[in-house]
Amino acid sequence: MSRKSRRIRYLILLLILLAVAANEAINKLRVASWERALVVRIYAINGDYMSGSAAYIDSLVLADFKPIERFINNEARRYQIPVDAVRLEYSNKLEMMPPQLPLQSSVLDNIIWSLRFRAWALYWYFVDDSDSADINLFVNYFDTDITQSLRHSVGLQGGMIGLINAFANKSYNGSNNVVITHEIMHTLGASDKYGQSNQPLHPSGYAEPYQLPLYPQRKAEIMGGRIPLSATLAKMPQSLKQVVVGVITASEINWNFE
Ligand SMILES: [Zn+2]
Repeated sequence: MSRKSRRIRYLILLLILLAVAANEAINKLRVASWERALVVRIYAINGDYMSGSAAYIDSLVLADFKPIERFINNEARRYQIPVDAVRLEYSNKLEMMPPQLPLQSSVLDNIIWSLRFRAWALYWYFVDDSDSADINLFVNYFDTDITQSLRHSVGLQGGMIGLINAFANKSYNGSNNVVITHEIMHTLGASDKYGQSNQPLHPSGYAEPYQLPLYPQRKAEIMGGRIPLSATLAKMPQSLKQVVVGVITASEINWNFE
């Protein structure tokens, strides 16, 4: 590559970074005032091109995702938010594949992936002609017959987009909704509250951090991710009925309750 074309490539990369940064700053200002409901739109994607996943996606309806809206609005009310926090929409399937997270990823891989995902989302905004939502979530579904463990899901703060990997199986609807809600919270500015081997952090990642005895906990904190059964053991919640938004997460997403 000549020196000139390399310089042009750097310039283009710099411009993309500036555009992404400006876009994020605007989004951050726009969101989190909680004066109106944020519109969250979900798109389903066949993640493995299997007919089983396609059939599952065809069976999905808005009602399958409604527990997410109910959960967030109930929790917001608990933190004295006077309006509905979110309104959920389901936009059926999307015949486009967002860039997939690398399987084994370094910090640099993740940064490069998040830039590629943002670039993909910008392209998608450009070609999509529906009214824009505040938060757009792309859910990749995988057939449980061939996929037993999923790649990570990611919600990008500022970008207000999330890429979620989920199981194409009715029996996972509840836990899929937990994962989707976790990523929505990331887009709003909440941070993870679990440590090594996915064990929730105390006290921020616990639903009831000061109960006695401390274990077993009955519920999970949404960003802690799991229900702590002991100091070293935790299990995935089966549905949002087993989840709460803790006070640290609430303050991170600007649910001020003084
Ligand atoms: Zn997370």
